[in-house]
Amino acid sequence: MISLMLQQPAPGLHIVATPIGNLGDLSPRAAETLRSANLILAEDTRVTGKLLAFAQAKAPMRRYDDHSTDSDREAIVERLASEIVALVSDAGTPLISDPGYKLVRAAREAGHQVHTVPGPCAAIAALTLAGVPTDRFLFAGFLPNKAKARGDAIAEFASLRATLVFYESGPRLGDALAALAEGLGSREAAVAREITKLHEQCVSGTLAELADRYRDAPPKGEIVIVVGPPGASAAASDADLDSALDEALERLSPSRAAGEVAERLAVPRKRAYARALELSRK
Ligand code: SAM
Repeated sequence: MISLMLQQPAPGLHIVATPIGNLGDLSPRAAETLRSANLILAEDTRVTGKLLAFAQAKAPMRRYDDHSTDSDREAIVERLASEIVALVSDAGTPLISDPGYKLVRAAREAGHQVHTVPGPCAAIAALTLAGVPTDRFLFAGFLPNKAKARGDAIAEFASLRATLVFYESGPRLGDALAALAEGLGSREAAVAREITKLHEQCVSGTLAELADRYRDAPPKGEIVIVVGPPGASAAASDADLDSALDEALERLSPSRAAGEVAERLAVPRKRAYARALELSRK
């Protein structure tokens, strides 16, 4: 049952989601929690200062980020028994590609209440725009910067029957899409940009089409990439792949066998080639 509870927040740690671009998305409960807080933990006090002015919240702020130490957390946890401490990030839901889980763990271990004030999250907002299946998805955060680590990370996701969600920035978008196209094969995808802001945009296409579009035209603003799940054959099992490759390797080099099988089973060429090399060494 849904009910409206806007009562005074209780002492403890409050995880407060904030807008990802449109101040109108600050919920009444989030605003009330910020106004009631004795202390507000923020990644960047200048960014959060603007939000607090909008919410008419006057509590003191303290920086809390990835550099915060165990002793910083101890000092915060000591206050939770009697005070309302709110954790926010620059935008969206704290802990989602943002700091916070160590503080939540420390608060819970010390027996304090942890409350959540849910709200905007770019990953979830992008899923609602992309028009790909949403029954099963994996939030993968930011891909690594370096090409080898990025390729390895993508390879881990290749056989998952799930939609994938990545955070990205404009300058890295072209390289990320090219790597996804190479590692995941032909899949439908979407680039959601500046969600809830004036220039919100969601562009759909196959990964290869999107990689082409953005190769030399890095867009401005904040970006989420959503990649639909593999088609039935793209998720071919290892056994299917091996048996097709065994047959092809009798006639062809590993590279050609991989190319032929990748096309026939609609699996990423990289996956087929790696396996063709292993089989040809046996
Ligand atoms: N905790 C945040 C959340 O709940 O979405 C995410 C923080 S993460 C450090 C920042 C990334 O989120 C950006 O680089 C971008 O990929 C994504 N993002 C945040 N706001 C966005 C927006 N308005 N439109 C598109 N992507 C956004």
